Amino acid sequence: MPRPIEALIHPAALAHNLARARAAAPDARVWAVVKAGAYGHGIERAYPGLRGADGFALLDLAEAQQLRALDWRGPILLLEGCFEARDLELCSRLNLWHVIHTEAQIDWLAAHKTHTPHRVFLKLNSGMNRLGLRPAAFRAAWTRLNALPQVDEISLMTHFADADGERGVARQLAVFEAATHDLPGERSLANSAALLRHGLRNDWVRAGIVCYGSAPDFPAHDIRHWGLQPAMTLRSRLIATQTLAAGESVGYGSAFTAAAAMRIGVVACGYADGYPRHAGTDTPVLVDGVRTGTLGRVSMDMLAVDLTPVPGAAIGSEVTLWGQGPGGSWLAIDDVAHAAGTIGYELMCALAPRVPVHVSD
Ligand SMILES: *Cc1c(COP(=O)(O)O)cnc(C)c1O
Repeated sequence: MPRPIEALIHPAALAHNLARARAAAPDARVWAVVKAGAYGHGIERAYPGLRGADGFALLDLAEAQQLRALDWRGPILLLEGCFEARDLELCSRLNLWHVIHTEAQIDWLAAHKTHTPHRVFLKLNSGMNRLGLRPAAFRAAWTRLNALPQVDEISLMTHFADADGERGVARQLAVFEAATHDLPGERSLANSAALLRHGLRNDWVRAGIVCYGSAPDFPAHDIRHWGLQPAMTLRSRLIATQTLAAGESVGYGSAFTAAAAMRIGVVACGYADGYPRHAGTDTPVLVDGVRTGTLGRVSMDMLAVDLTPVPGAAIGSEVTLWGQGPGGSWLAIDDVAHAAGTIGYELMCALAPRVPVHVSD
């Protein structure tokens, strides 16, 4: 028998979550953001659940090719645009729309030979200071693009630094409005947090994490609040149990010591599977669908769990590290991420290559 760990991808949950994003912006078109291998779910595995999107946004050219190979004929947007001039050939060939965030990308486009003009998204740096042209340079860039025969339609775009937090979007939104109010073209402003928290629903919303069943603003809100379902499950089984006497410890560093006699389980899952090593004692986990907590340090291939709330648990019992458990139980990836001092995004993207992934039905 293979080691009992596996990940499951849930197409029905992806489709449900995409529908939630759509319901939050009924008049907008929705990009399903599938960068980083669909946030660790795998482009091919996520595609059946997300094909109802109006387009796919990503940044790796190989992933764009993968989508075309899956026969997706609709819009694909390269969120970072081209990395060098010759990437434009692929954009022409596969009809990829691309972000323009710097003057160099306009130079490449001006020198590019193509029969079909490109749809581009001109990106404003409205204050996040990662990608985009500053407001003072934005209009000149737009004018230059607009004069190029290589350019078809120009859409306008920006990205928020604080859509999930206290600062919100107002300041960056004002910068965007001031720089673009008299320019034509469709707008794309919102990521998941800006869509759900701030109701920003301009022409194209960019729905990333919301599709995968993680709350963009956890712990302020959880997936129950937003009506989302976990799209990835990481599950394994107990491969041993131990009974600790009071004063005995478990695992490296003896980081957990039993206060009284207790039964513990050893799970075939460790940091080499993508489980966060920084998750300390009491990180939530389900055993046979019952919520309990981890004990002590996570090691490379194993972790320990408290079996006190699940006296019937034995070798072979199902352990849900995150996602959907037996009997309709579920554990949000955000709960686990929070206990490990990180975010759901990181855990789903860090699922390790040694974990077999299956698509559930
Ligand atoms: C990743 C990304 C998104 C999606 O963000 P979520 O928080 O996952 O919804 C949107 N826009 C850009 C530019 C991105 O890079």
